[in-house]
Amino acid sequence: MERSEMTVDQKREALEKALDRTDMLMEDFLDVLRQDFGEKKRNHRDFSSAAQKIVPDEKPEEKPEDKPVGKDDERLHMSMSALSADASGCTRCCLCRTRKNVVFGTGCSDRPLVMVIGEGPGENEDIQGLPFVGKAGQYLDRWLAAITLSRDKNVYITNTVKCRPPQNRDPYPEEKEACFAFLKQQVALIRPSAILCLGKPASTLMTGQPEASMNALHGKFFFYDSIPMICTYHPAAVLRDPALKRPVWDDLKKLARYLGLETGGGKA
Ligand code: SF4
Repeated sequence: MERSEMTVDQKREALEKALDRTDMLMEDFLDVLRQDFGEKKRNHRDFSSAAQKIVPDEKPEEKPEDKPVGKDDERLHMSMSALSADASGCTRCCLCRTRKNVVFGTGCSDRPLVMVIGEGPGENEDIQGLPFVGKAGQYLDRWLAAITLSRDKNVYITNTVKCRPPQNRDPYPEEKEACFAFLKQQVALIRPSAILCLGKPASTLMTGQPEASMNALHGKFFFYDSIPMICTYHPAAVLRDPALKRPVWDDLKKLARYLGLETGGGKA
């Protein structure tokens, strides 16, 4: 076998044998000398430690997922809890006056595949304190399942504003602006592989194009803080207008292709 084809173990074994042979020759030579001086003692030496020094054991590369949970991970969760606690008492905009609950976010908060950003909590969300739990939320779950995503496993869901706008109106620009500090920090802590913006308030805010229409924004990839981001219509809008199903499905397939996910799970 060529030396270049040998494994580390084979190289070390061959080296040990060669050193042993050399040692035996030396001992034989010494025997002759010792016999001459009336002394005969054979002490076979162990060369494994010398061989280990010359050809050390191959160490497997440490993969990131093999690393034990460290201080950074602890800080991540502590910071998310601290941020959530901060939001729970927030009075930065007038939406605090009418809310029942602050709807901070839900799902996988540690590097999920997708972070979904919607508009704002509706009536059910305000009551339960969780985003996307009403009819539109159940529809969103079907979209996610169609591309093998799930809020329980690999998706984090939140909104541009954490408090419900009265009568489900669109959040005002100053409300989105006031709440953006929370959203920015959520993105920075969660570090998703991709962001999916649902509806005009989230899409215009995250792309920084306040005047753009959903027709212009949907289906295109943008970057937010170096994270790829795609915009599509809000599930509530699709429930009102089934003609939007086709473009939404096309947008979801683009996202799935980028993430290397299956798209055989159905359609929007
Ligand atoms: S919407 Fe955001 S900024 Fe306004 S009160 Fe609620 S948490 Fe604070």
